[in-house]
Amino acid sequence: MLSRVKSITVAKLNLIADIHANLPALEAVLDELPRAKTIHLGDVVGYNPYPREVIELLREKRIASVLGNHDHAVVTGDTSWFNPVAARAIEWTREQLGDEELAYLASLPLEIKNEVYAVHGSPRRKLEEYVYPDYPEEVLSAFLKLASRAVLAMGHTHIPFSRKLRGTLIVNPGSVGQPRDGDARASFACIDLATLEVEIVRVEYDISRVAKDILRAGLPAILAQRLYEGY
Ligand code: ZN
Repeated sequence: MLSRVKSITVAKLNLIADIHANLPALEAVLDELPRAKTIHLGDVVGYNPYPREVIELLREKRIASVLGNHDHAVVTGDTSWFNPVAARAIEWTREQLGDEELAYLASLPLEIKNEVYAVHGSPRRKLEEYVYPDYPEEVLSAFLKLASRAVLAMGHTHIPFSRKLRGTLIVNPGSVGQPRDGDARASFACIDLATLEVEIVRVEYDISRVAKDILRAGLPAILAQRLYEGY
């Protein structure tokens, strides 16, 4: 009992993002996460074939999540922002989910402000803006003002990065369920809140199982192919 108390007093925080209904990837990441509070930066669903299982697991593990643009589209049915492949996956996902699961997605907040500021896109366009690693410093500084926290955490691009700016940390943990930086392994970040040091960790998972289930579900084959290539 004592050792457990000791281990949870360490000021660490895990960030995960863009699970996109990829259960094997989420399970592999959960196995590797250090014992610490974990926040998910949106896009619980979309693209991959296990939306119900992923929602259930997040709720069971009490992992807080913000709303992502795919989650929002599944709730509203509005796919006008999406390319045909993403839109097809959103329609498929809507058919899989019951009222309670849709209510869970609808309940997700646009931002979480506690030890850190967490959002899917950016602090000014919370669902839509893609903040890439080379974003200009002036814009990032403006985001930090809006966030008013020492850590600004964003998802949405599926590309991990971290940048220190005048004593603050800007971080994207990459994607659990559909990495796009050329590395097919699932991605997460672990932050030391005292020092603002961040570690981006990559985890292997069974891509072939997901690819098979994507095809079995009748989802577009490109969604299986891209998992192998990490884009
Ligand atoms: Zn996403």
